[in-house]
Amino acid sequence: MRMQPPALARSVFEPSPAERADDTLIERLRAESTTRVLQVRGDRARVRGDRLVWAAAADVVEQAPSAEWAFLGRASDGSARLVAASPAATADAGTDRDDEATWSSLRTSGGDLVDEDAGAFVTAVALGRWFADFGFCPRCGSPARLRSAGWSRQCTGCGREQFPRTDPAVIVAVRDTRDERLLLGQNASWAADGRFSTFAGFVEAGESLETAIRREVEEEAGVVVDDLEYRGSQAWPYPRSLMLGFHAVAADQPQARPDGEEIVAVRWFDRDEIRSALAGEGPVALPGSASIARRLIADWCGATA
Ligand SMILES: [Zn+2]
Repeated sequence: MRMQPPALARSVFEPSPAERADDTLIERLRAESTTRVLQVRGDRARVRGDRLVWAAAADVVEQAPSAEWAFLGRASDGSARLVAASPAATADAGTDRDDEATWSSLRTSGGDLVDEDAGAFVTAVALGRWFADFGFCPRCGSPARLRSAGWSRQCTGCGREQFPRTDPAVIVAVRDTRDERLLLGQNASWAADGRFSTFAGFVEAGESLETAIRREVEEEAGVVVDDLEYRGSQAWPYPRSLMLGFHAVAADQPQARPDGEEIVAVRWFDRDEIRSALAGEGPVALPGSASIARRLIADWCGATA
């Protein structure tokens, strides 16, 4: 059975990459009355209910004069969608007049938005992060100017072109050999709210996904895993990950123990406990609705996240 798509992997935009080659695209689309713009500050955008607040281009130009812009794509009616991104600390004037809308993070609200907005939000935050972090050429250190409607940078010194970075990370729901229990771990920073989650880590240089999974789970939880099964992926721009979600089986389950550094506790959970936690009942908390971790956990349980 296929896993329900992760919360941030529901994009419905037509990315229309052929249009990005036009260096006047952003300027031209800003002048079109049907164009809508998502303003982001770091990982936050304005949210009202299950929708993002999209603005007219002229308003955003006025409110966020220092923002960097990119073309997100086209909505189903053909109208253009742009992002105007500023760093997290920015507080441009005049954007908080709308009482019903609040500035909310992707992490907090991404799982509760309609598909179109969830997909736009994660792309906008990922691009904004790249704009903020990669302003200089990695080869010669000169400033690198945005091109391709926000999808590449070109060095003003040596001409080298660079593209938005994505770092692969694996995330794994580990079950026992009888498929009765799921192994979750508690990060040191989550102990206060009783939260447990799946095991995750970056793919290191030269590693395959399979090697990364076995290394991470053994490091963090002390068990050797096998029977790896890919379940789905989503971008997670904290700061620039692509989370690749797997299920795996721990053959040596009595060996489970926390590494004592990153992970301070590990525990086996049966399906009843997981269902209660998904419902927000009982002492155990699970990751938020925007995370692929929650989707993997619900997937094992046969529940919706
Ligand atoms: Zn350069």
